[in-house]
Amino acid sequence: MSDAGELSGRVALVTGGSAGIGRAICLKLARLGAAVAVMARRESAVVKVVSEIEAEGGKGLAVVCDVTDYAAVTAAVDRVVVELGVPYILVNNAGIDVVRMFVDTDEALWRRLVDVNYIGFLAVTHAVAPKMIEKKSGLMINIGSDAGRVGNPGDVVYCGTKAAMMATSKALAREFARYGIRVNCVAPGPIRDTELLDAFYEGEMGEKMANMVPLRRLGTPEDVADVVGFFASEDARYLTGQILSVDGGLTMIS
Ligand code: NDP
Repeated sequence: MSDAGELSGRVALVTGGSAGIGRAICLKLARLGAAVAVMARRESAVVKVVSEIEAEGGKGLAVVCDVTDYAAVTAAVDRVVVELGVPYILVNNAGIDVVRMFVDTDEALWRRLVDVNYIGFLAVTHAVAPKMIEKKSGLMINIGSDAGRVGNPGDVVYCGTKAAMMATSKALAREFARYGIRVNCVAPGPIRDTELLDAFYEGEMGEKMANMVPLRRLGTPEDVADVVGFFASEDARYLTGQILSVDGGLTMIS
């Protein structure tokens, strides 16, 4: 169980922190005492999350950045280091999805999904890793997806990007362990109250999904953020290269 103040003196960088699951993760890590760099594209949304953190007495930094722009990412990470310090925690959460049957997709959509969900994750990881290596400590928590573990119709390329992220996380865990850096993934199942899939889960579809979940409800951003809090806590000190589904029992992968 993570305790309030457990992360005090630590710096966290959360991509896609402006909405949904990322916002909940920013608030969670700030409540645990971390100074949180909130990174996303929409300035007003990023600034709003920072104000929410500050309203609770925490410390936040608004970082407007598109994770697909490597030069912007390196500049943004440098700014975080100057203004807050080297991140001890990196949460790669930024992601997009467009639900559409594969035959109705096109190359432009495949490239967009890969660019944000996979290349964006690589870019931020690549910019932060040398700083963590220099410190010989760090923690990467990557937001994968159950969809990337079991497959989802209408989500073919998205599933591929998430599977790629989760496989890469295991390889990174092996490379980075020697530097005292741990890398783990959280794989959410269907989560409501986010911009990503809210329209999809509305009404009958949401009800159908909830009935398929053994715990009989869709997840919330806080359900995911609390597990990120666990991975960020001392209790998780012997975990690396792991993927934990947060899905009310939907997949139960062994
Ligand atoms: P939201 O759409 O609510 O939030 C996505 C976040 O990513 C926003 O903060 C958005 O901010 C940011 N983002 C998108 N593109 C970029 C970009 N190019 N550069 C920087 N930031 C970007 O989605 P969720 O909260 O639902 O999703 C968060 C993560 O959880 C994603 O990786 C998603 O795949 C994963 N997930 C979600 C599930 C769900 O059911 N909701 C299930 C499984 C996994 P902005 O627009 O301001 O840039």
